[in-house]
Amino acid sequence: MASIADSREDTGDWREPSDPGGTRRPRFTGYPFTLGVASGAPEPTSVVLWTRLAPESLGGGGVGSGAVVVRWEMADDERFERVVARGEVDAVSAHWYPFIAGDDVSPVGRTRTTPAIDARVDGLRFAIGSCQQYEQGYFAAHRHLADEDLDLMLFVGDYVYESSWGVGLVRRHVGGEPRTLAEYRTRHAQYKTDPDLQRLHAAVPWLVTWDDHEVDNDYADERSEDLDPEFLTRRAAGYRAYFEHMPLRAMARPRGPDMRLYARCEFGTLATIHVLDGRQYRSPQACPRAGRGGSNRVGPSCEELFREDRTMLGKTQERWLAAGLREAPESWNVIAEATLTAPAAVGEGDAQRFWTDAWDGYPAARDRLLEAIEDAAAQSCLLVSGDAHTNYVCDLHRGEPASATLATEFCGTSITSQGRPQEQTDEIRRDNPHIHLADSSQRGYVVFDVGTERCEARLRVVADVRDRATGVETLATFAVAAGRPGATRS
Ligand code: FE
Ligand code: CA
Repeated sequence: MASIADSREDTGDWREPSDPGGTRRPRFTGYPFTLGVASGAPEPTSVVLWTRLAPESLGGGGVGSGAVVVRWEMADDERFERVVARGEVDAVSAHWYPFIAGDDVSPVGRTRTTPAIDARVDGLRFAIGSCQQYEQGYFAAHRHLADEDLDLMLFVGDYVYESSWGVGLVRRHVGGEPRTLAEYRTRHAQYKTDPDLQRLHAAVPWLVTWDDHEVDNDYADERSEDLDPEFLTRRAAGYRAYFEHMPLRAMARPRGPDMRLYARCEFGTLATIHVLDGRQYRSPQACPRAGRGGSNRVGPSCEELFREDRTMLGKTQERWLAAGLREAPESWNVIAEATLTAPAAVGEGDAQRFWTDAWDGYPAARDRLLEAIEDAAAQSCLLVSGDAHTNYVCDLHRGEPASATLATEFCGTSITSQGRPQEQTDEIRRDNPHIHLADSSQRGYVVFDVGTERCEARLRVVADVRDRATGVETLATFAVAAGRPGATRS
């Protein structure tokens, strides 16, 4: 095993790549690399390479219980003239890799490690994507993302959907709502058969976090929407399948229903990306409907909503984030998480309505998050999120809008998932002056060019998710100056 790559090949049951005694001349019933290749979790001296052997892509993946030797190679050049299987790695240059099993060779992926921790990096280009309901559209956004020359792709949740919903579907899920490991594996495999998703995974390393739909709509820690007493068993299956299909570090390997997903990624002295998990440790949503769990729209009479002890991240992750912000407050700190942090309630006084699943449902926890940013004096702080199927560009304050802006939030619209009517989104914008832009009418992603002086964010939108060949254009561009939180339209 070379030091540059922490390779993960799933053969149904995960084996260490150095595990001796696997079959070197396996016979597959078909081409085993139907789910493509991926890389992720880059560090200065390592990057995770991923594939999963699946001769029958929708059969739950895997090739039975016997170990199969899967080899990988990594080269400096696309034609594999300079194979760098081990040893020194040039920090930010691209590397190419295929996997080999028996006589079969996977598509060639491209990846890169991150710069050395103390490297003076002057640019980082990354994008955020979220919410890719498979039935509602093709993943054309990923094809365009593959052409954006990214250093890194950040996916902030709803990578698969457990549920079928929406209007005018272009394709259908195989099977009903997944509950078992085999069913979650099939769901992931089906999403991974989309050629444009495979293409982006093969083009650039990913960092990922999840939201609710990777397991079940609106779940909160161990409470499910329908108060399923067996929910933790289901969560374990969902987490396990997620781990098996994502380019995650081995440290993320689930133990039953528990899985350590939150992680940090540093880009030299320029930027630190803190990837948060807002599902696994959160308090249940406040004031749910009678006999139910999950989200609700509640007024200020819901006292539970405002309780100090309610948490979105859990105490341990809160402390981990605060400590991470104190490490490098002078650089860009990108906080990646699933749901909208900025206040987005509509109405006034007793008629005000809060959506309890996003940070509006956890006001004390949101205040602690902003306090951690303020206490660390992290003045170049970007929050990036998803879930809302809406592009929001927001300035973040503690308390009144007149108080100092502490950070800037870009909530990216969905890759495919349908958004609410724009009239409702206009109401949210009307009642929340810290929101510069709110658009739920279009699908797409956001590209960030982070530099030493400023960060530029381009909101990219596709014309029609029902058309695989659809084009992309820029809806708006915003800039944030280093050390001066708040977005300016450019
Ligand atoms: Fe979603
Ligand atoms: Ca939800």
